[in-house]
Amino acid sequence: MKIHRAAARPTKTAPTDKFTGQVFQDEVLVGQPPSRMRATNVTFNPGARTAWHQHPVGQTLLAVSGIGRVQVEGGEVEELFPGDTAIIPPNTRHWHGAAPNRIFTHLAMSETGDNGAGTEWFEKVSDDQYQ
Ligand code: MN
Repeated sequence: MKIHRAAARPTKTAPTDKFTGQVFQDEVLVGQPPSRMRATNVTFNPGARTAWHQHPVGQTLLAVSGIGRVQVEGGEVEELFPGDTAIIPPNTRHWHGAAPNRIFTHLAMSETGDNGAGTEWFEKVSDDQYQ
């Protein structure tokens, strides 16, 4: 068994080319083969969100606290509340983040693709798309 102590894993600030607003990432797990699992606890300041992106094997988001937003391209913007789980299909463009006036934390879980491919990133989510 391995225990990763929280104090030994500082919170990272998410890169500004892939996120709008201030976003913090706490790594939970980077699975070692044969596991492909990746889990990150992500906190978005009010109004902060990811850019458009997609995951090769999809993604599961567990809303932990606050109020969030998620949208799959072509669908409605949905609100996420603590305890809600959003399941994003493979290779489907989407974004997720906080509501405009509430901080939001979710546990993001995904797997890398057959060739080790991770998240594919696209353009940022405009204010119009976010609203
Ligand atoms: Mn995602």
